[in-house]
Amino acid sequence: MFNIILFGPPGSGKGTQSEKLVEKYGFVHLSTGNLLRDEISRQTPLGTEAKSFIDKGQLVPDEVVIGMVGSFFDKNKEATGFLFDGFPRTVAQAVALDKLLELKKTEIAALLALEVGEDELVKRLLHRGQTSGRSDDTNEEVIRKRFAVYSKETTPVAEHYSNLNKLQRVKGDGTIDGIFGLLCSAIDTKKK
Ligand code: AMP
Repeated sequence: MFNIILFGPPGSGKGTQSEKLVEKYGFVHLSTGNLLRDEISRQTPLGTEAKSFIDKGQLVPDEVVIGMVGSFFDKNKEATGFLFDGFPRTVAQAVALDKLLELKKTEIAALLALEVGEDELVKRLLHRGQTSGRSDDTNEEVIRKRFAVYSKETTPVAEHYSNLNKLQRVKGDGTIDGIFGLLCSAIDTKKK
């Protein structure tokens, strides 16, 4: 198996680039944000709990997210590689992921971190809010809260994988195709 984490702040292009990477490499895409939005639209108890956190720009509790990832693995036993998008978002989630992968006799090959300046991120998110129907993208206060949470709780995840020699930074402020090219080179180097 070959597994990567696509990492970066809200609005850094993880979703857009994930779609392209899945098409090129055949990864199974695991976006915890998409899984949570699906639970919300199906009005499940998990969705109702998650919505109260998402609407405030807070993280959904680790045990809820880790449980959801465990069931996703159970449903995708034939996968030859996962692309993790928006997960892990805390060090506790990273440690849990490493353990779950170890049980599957595999590991993270690389964490690719998209780097984009904050002004550009806010611009992109407010623009996305006009078209995506995502309520957490329309309110600037919620967006700022998500950045604060990212810098406090999520950036240590990059350090966790840096300590394992798996962090690779990628400039995320160019064109979609330009950034895709940089991500593909990083992946191809790791796959060799
Ligand atoms: P995303 O689509 O990845 O930007 O996620 C949207 C929202 O879902 C986030 O702002 C969090 O509230 C929640 N969320 C998504 N993934 C996670 C995660 N791995 N851990 C905790 N909360 C998450």
